[in-house]
Amino acid sequence: MYIDIGINLINRQFEHDADDIIQDALEEEVSQMILTGTSVRNSQLSAQLAKQYPGVLYSTAGIHPHDAKSFNGESIPALKKLLEQKHVVSVGECGLDFDRDFSPRPVQEKCYAAQLELAVAVQKPLFLHERAAFDRFVGVTKEYLPKLPLGVVHCFTGSLAEAKAYLDMGFYLGFTGSISDVKRFAHLKEVVNYVPLDKIMIETDAPFMLPKNVPAGQLKKYHERRNEPAFLPYVAGSIAQFKGISLDKVAKATTENAERFFKL
Ligand SMILES: [Zn+2]
Repeated sequence: MYIDIGINLINRQFEHDADDIIQDALEEEVSQMILTGTSVRNSQLSAQLAKQYPGVLYSTAGIHPHDAKSFNGESIPALKKLLEQKHVVSVGECGLDFDRDFSPRPVQEKCYAAQLELAVAVQKPLFLHERAAFDRFVGVTKEYLPKLPLGVVHCFTGSLAEAKAYLDMGFYLGFTGSISDVKRFAHLKEVVNYVPLDKIMIETDAPFMLPKNVPAGQLKKYHERRNEPAFLPYVAGSIAQFKGISLDKVAKATTENAERFFKL
């Protein structure tokens, strides 16, 4: 069995078939999924949807750096309220994204710091996003590090040196189908090999990050570019291949890590 620690099920691409998508995932032994909250509104919708599938769906509550411009005085109380629910298991996704800069950097930093404080207050683990912002991300995070609960840097695509730094900070790393993109992310093979299995979690980040190793026949006719939680075993397959271990071993370890981390 597998646990997908990050899917964007509220995304418009799943508007008409979210239930089918969940059933397809269950058939592929993806038995639990955590819906990623990316704004207050999106976190509320994710929590509502997750509530309809007890023991199968969970959600996070947070504001993605792209949405940091929506951050205001009501944001943290609203997220805190969501986090009072048992199936809302994590603070995030939150962090810094200097790749696309959809929100001004100082606003991103303020929004991120506020969510680190929230995680300290509620003591639920952090679902972290960092893209092209390593130095500032570490700078802001280190101010809170001694008091922080556990954290996972999701969809990791950084360098080996950055992976080592995150492991030193006690963080887990989340890998997506990007690791199967051997042209664009060739360096990730070395990273995956280096990171101990007990620090790895897997995620599809669906509908994004379609793994390259999904056979064409598996893709939905009208959604050929869309990723789904049912494809999570292909992410595990890449890890097994890189590390030269069995798929079962990857499935078992990543599932145990996710259960322990999110207290599922
Ligand atoms: Zn992200």
